[in-house]
Amino acid sequence: MSLLVVGSVAFDTIKTAQGTAEDVLGGSATYCAYAASFFAPVRLVSPVGEDMPAAHLENMQKHNIDTAGIHVVKGGKTFRWVGSYSDDFLERTTERVDLNVFGDYDTTLPAEYLDSEYVFLANGAPEAQKEVLEQLPNRKLAFLDTMNHWIAGSRGALLDVIKIIDGIVLNDEEARLLTGEKNLLTAARKIAAMGPKTVVIKKGEHGSILVSDGRPFVVPARLTETVNDPTGAGDCFGGGMMGYVANTGGTSFDALKAGIVYGTVIASFCIEDFSVDRLRSISLEDIDRRRRELSSMISWA
Ligand code: AMP
Repeated sequence: MSLLVVGSVAFDTIKTAQGTAEDVLGGSATYCAYAASFFAPVRLVSPVGEDMPAAHLENMQKHNIDTAGIHVVKGGKTFRWVGSYSDDFLERTTERVDLNVFGDYDTTLPAEYLDSEYVFLANGAPEAQKEVLEQLPNRKLAFLDTMNHWIAGSRGALLDVIKIIDGIVLNDEEARLLTGEKNLLTAARKIAAMGPKTVVIKKGEHGSILVSDGRPFVVPARLTETVNDPTGAGDCFGGGMMGYVANTGGTSFDALKAGIVYGTVIASFCIEDFSVDRLRSISLEDIDRRRRELSSMISWA
C-alpha cells in the first residue's frame, strides 16, 4: 500500500557545532517521504517555488517517491527555515521562518491520490491538514504531526483536525504545551480524549511512547555516537512508522509497535548527516541490521 505524505518541502539553513549547511533540502514532508519510502511507495504533496531545483525532485523519484503532488507555484518561493542547535544538541532555536508558498496553498489533491488509504500529515498548518483529510473517503489510517508553532498559534484549528484524526505524533514539549500536563502518560491520555485512538510522544534521545486504545508501548532511542544534524529526526520517525504500517496493509497494535521501532532506527541514521544525505546512502539491509542491534540492546533472558 502506498503512503500519502503532505507537508513542507523546504530549504533549510542549519547551524550546529559541526558546521553550517546553507539552503539544503529539508522540510517535514521531505524527511518523512524519504523515511517511508524504504517500506512503501510514497505520494508526496507540497507546494514549492520556482527556485526548487529539478535535481531534488529527480532524486526523490529515484527513491520510490511520486512527486506528481509537488505543485510548483509560478513566481513563488519555496518555504525557508533557519535553525541553530546548542553544542549538546538539546536545544534548538528557530532563527527564521519564511513560509512563502507554504503560507497559504491550494490543498486540492491530484485525482489519482484520492483513493489513498494511509496518510501522514507532516508538520504544517492544521487548516490545510484538515482540508486534505476531508478529500480522502477511503482512508484507513491517518496520522498527523504538529509542532509548537501551530499549537501556540493555531490552537482552535489544530483541535478541529485532532478530533477527526486516527493518530498523532508529537514531542514531549509539544504534548505538554497542548495539554498543560507534565506527566507524559497522562498527557497522552488527555490527547487521546481529544479524538485520536493512537498517540505517539517522541522524547528525543530518550525514545518514545505509544499509547493506542489505552495500551502503552515504549521504545528507547537507538543511540548513535555520530550526531551532525538532528533536523528531521522526528519526521523520519513518523514517516518510517507509517511507511512500515502501510506496507503491512493493516492497522494493528503490533504493526504500530514494529512501526515505531523502524521509525526509531531511521531517525538514528538521519541525524548522522545534514539534510537527507544519510538517508540517500543507506539501504533496507542497513536499517534491518540496526533494528536487530536495537532489539539485542533491549532484550534479556
Ligand atoms: P524536525 O526536526 O523533525 O522537527 O523537522 C524539521 C523540519 O521541519 C525542517 O526541515 C523544516 O524545514 C521543517 N519545518 C520547520 N518549521 C516548520 C513549520 N512551521 N511547518 C512545517 N515544517 C516546518
